Amino acid sequence: MQNFVGVGVSRGRVIGPVRHMPAALAEPPVGEKLASSTTPETAAAALKEAGAAVKAQLLARAGGAEGTGKDVLEATALMATDPMLIKAAVKLINSGSSAERAIWEAGESVAAMLKGLGGYMAERSHDVQDVKSRIVAQLRGVPAPEIPDSDAPFILVAEDLAPADTATLDPNKVVALVTASGGPQSHTAIIARALGLPAVVAATGVGGLADSGLVFVDGSTGQVSTDPGDAEHAAVALWQEQASLLSVFDGEGRLADGTLLPLLANVGGDSDAREAAAANAQGVGLLRTEFCFLGNDTEPSHAVQVAAYRGVFDAFPGQKVVVRTLDAGADKPLPFLTDTSEANPALGVRGYRTDTTTPGVLARQLAAIADAAKQSQAVVWVMAPMISTAAEAAHFAALCTAEGLKIPGVMVEVPSAALTARHLFDHVEFASLGTNDLTQYAMAADRQLGTLAALNDPWQPAVLALIRATVEGAASQARYSAAHALEDSAPRDSAPKPVGVCGESAADPVLAVVLAGLGVTSLSMTPRALPAVSAVLRTVTLPQARALAMEAVAAASAAEALELVRAGLPALAELGL
Ligand code: PEP
Ligand code: MG
Repeated sequence: MQNFVGVGVSRGRVIGPVRHMPAALAEPPVGEKLASSTTPETAAAALKEAGAAVKAQLLARAGGAEGTGKDVLEATALMATDPMLIKAAVKLINSGSSAERAIWEAGESVAAMLKGLGGYMAERSHDVQDVKSRIVAQLRGVPAPEIPDSDAPFILVAEDLAPADTATLDPNKVVALVTASGGPQSHTAIIARALGLPAVVAATGVGGLADSGLVFVDGSTGQVSTDPGDAEHAAVALWQEQASLLSVFDGEGRLADGTLLPLLANVGGDSDAREAAAANAQGVGLLRTEFCFLGNDTEPSHAVQVAAYRGVFDAFPGQKVVVRTLDAGADKPLPFLTDTSEANPALGVRGYRTDTTTPGVLARQLAAIADAAKQSQAVVWVMAPMISTAAEAAHFAALCTAEGLKIPGVMVEVPSAALTARHLFDHVEFASLGTNDLTQYAMAADRQLGTLAALNDPWQPAVLALIRATVEGAASQARYSAAHALEDSAPRDSAPKPVGVCGESAADPVLAVVLAGLGVTSLSMTPRALPAVSAVLRTVTLPQARALAMEAVAAASAAEALELVRAGLPALAELGL
């Protein structure tokens, strides 16, 4: 038996035969010249034709895909005729290069440029690399490097996977993904989680696995081993049993004692929203509006924005939809809002802060959200990302009021906001904890860096303390305003304002118990996580969750916090978590 250990990025255990992703297309030789029998004009025309053909193929595949897969394919398809890419290649053809070599080099330089931008744009560089190879294959008249076809289900093993491949893979054929490189934030990981496929990344050496040989893959522990025996078969059987218990969410988040804790979905657009509604999410806890416009060079028009928001609202009539205003910057630059030359973009003009450098965009977005809300049945709440001070919260609330949006809120993802939450709540009606950024800022650890994964962990007691501080801020603001209400005898509602969580931590079924115990009022997550989170929450009462939360906050390390809470949740073993 050979053992490989990578990073488990999508839960599940499976045994199946290995099929390797075909080797990447051979690079056209450096300096390859245009054949003497052709002219630059003919070669340029052939290149454009090949680009258009690749675009058509990818769009056809997008037609058969759904959700995230469809979005990725459509974005990659556009890249095949991207004017910047084609123009750069034609320039090389005009200086004597063959069309294959020209598109190859142009693709490399566009990809390098995107990579240099970092974050989300760096991930787009894979799309360009993928498109470049497909155009070369088209020019050569050979098949594009694609997922192998097979009649029987198999485990796909690759060095890394291009987004266009992962997006179209058929989960009835591909039963697990294993890559030799890639990190937990890679496309492979994101798509695997969205499809519910077990996946392991960064499993060095798996390229040497025998084709068709049986392997065991555990997407939780990151284990990949050959020659599976009785123990591995038993582990798979147990997983299948457990997975069937965790396959559906009935639409009501609650604890064992009946305490309600609504479970909502994080979405990036209308197709995500429809999937979330089908998964019985109790609403949307985070609509990342920047995801609706990532490809836009210019600010989307009022009509385009209204249509995008309505698409989401219409999936949840009568239910809550929390819209987050554009969070441009850092790993998600939007050309019309962000300055990509900042040396330290995670600490730069990001999210709400772009209102100071590009005034007007935020107010126009709020106007579009308000119009979309008027045309729909959803209960629309609006929040701003990257709020750091009470003055910013007050300004955002004033902008919302001006547009007639009655439920303004803030993301709490900067430690200063958590620590001064009591003052923020004087101005807004709710807060949502963005634990992804709250963790990166509390621990000063770039959330994109695999090497800092141990610091970038929401189980860090410092992060849990900031969550607690936010909930306490809401309670203290409620007490304060109730006391003032007595003084001026104006009756006021003294219930603390809601504090939800919409970072990835809400999707961790064990951490969800701690969050409930700390007093958060809703959890928002990828819809796939709803069944497991709901199942674990139903095994604890609120007093038990509170006791476990206290232990976690008091722990000396993230590992100790996790261990203490796991030890207090015997049901986890039964549920296979
Ligand atoms: C967060 O920071 O936790 C969050 C939900 O926002 P994003 O991941 O989009 O930065
Ligand atoms: Mg954030």
